[in-house]
Amino acid sequence: MTQLTELATFASTANNSRGRRFNEPPPEHRSEFQRDRDRIVHSAAFRRLEYKTQVFVNHEGDMFRTRLTHSIEVAQIARSVARILGVNEVLAETIALAHDLGHTPFGHAGQDALNQCMRDYGGFEHNLQSLRIVDQLEEKYAEFDGLNLTFETREGILKHCSTDNARQLGELGERFLKKQQPGLEAQITNIADEIAYNNHDIDDGLRAGLIDIEQLCEIQLFREQHQTVMTTYPDLQPRRAIHEIIRRMINHQVTDLIETSRNLLATSAPQSRDDILNQSAPLAGFSEPMQAMNRELKRFLRNHLYRHYRVHRMTAKARDIIHALFDSFFDDALLLPPEAQRKAAEQETENGSSGRARAVADYIAGMTDRYAIQEYERIFTPAKLT
Ligand code: MG
Repeated sequence: MTQLTELATFASTANNSRGRRFNEPPPEHRSEFQRDRDRIVHSAAFRRLEYKTQVFVNHEGDMFRTRLTHSIEVAQIARSVARILGVNEVLAETIALAHDLGHTPFGHAGQDALNQCMRDYGGFEHNLQSLRIVDQLEEKYAEFDGLNLTFETREGILKHCSTDNARQLGELGERFLKKQQPGLEAQITNIADEIAYNNHDIDDGLRAGLIDIEQLCEIQLFREQHQTVMTTYPDLQPRRAIHEIIRRMINHQVTDLIETSRNLLATSAPQSRDDILNQSAPLAGFSEPMQAMNRELKRFLRNHLYRHYRVHRMTAKARDIIHALFDSFFDDALLLPPEAQRKAAEQETENGSSGRARAVADYIAGMTDRYAIQEYERIFTPAKLT
């Protein structure tokens, strides 16, 4: 495959960017999207990703993926694909590093629990929370709240959004109402996310002993690469074989993504970034057969890993911790540390109980797994009186 060194006319660039919410002088030594990426890397929310669960709770072992290593893997895949398709590699990386900032502790179990706690107060959605973090919650700059990122990075972070929420989001919500696509960099990152988690969840699942090779051979994506690796290297030591199979699976999916997207781009022949946005469907994607194989893989992971009793036991516990924390803080704001207390009071003055609930949700969503467990122990364990 030849490598494009120049950006395609439909790439996102500083020239066709819709800019930042607050005007700032252009960066001196970096591009606009590099500045976005650097702001994300220096944010508090980014550092917390290190101690947030992907599937396995952080303290279960040091070898499992966390939200941080997941985000870095997504960035790696997104960058490679963006580069070869001639779009903005830095923007793809930026979106990847920011895409999971809004996740609660304890993975999806945490998000579902917090959403339930917030059901009378506007709900909770990690995708919107990522945007809330970069737009409002980070307190780093003298001149504005949030990180004041470019429109294109924010557009990429907001992967999906209900019509109701879209109406409240102004220009960022427009594309959901007009049924437009995001830029190609965001489309690529979205699929890179899927490639990363499907494959690393297999690796983590095997490592944890929750699934085995024999079971995995039920699914085509795995079986094909397994056969090739075992035929080529019959004596390969198992841990190496797993890595060899998974890296080939990732390569197989990435190659399909590149080739399918190239064909779609050739057929639609977009000339500008706007042409990408105005398509009725994304131009980055998998072929039909790869989509089918991916569905099979996802189904496998859902049935054998995410619903495994040991994972479920952990998620059930996580749900209880989130509910208990939310109820305690919401009923008695004096249990919150001073800064969160001040925000709860401020937001209650503005929006009543919904405001207070939102401040509590922000505080809980910002917790790492272990911090949430510690808070729970501090509040509910009689022996812990400090
Ligand atoms: Mg992700």
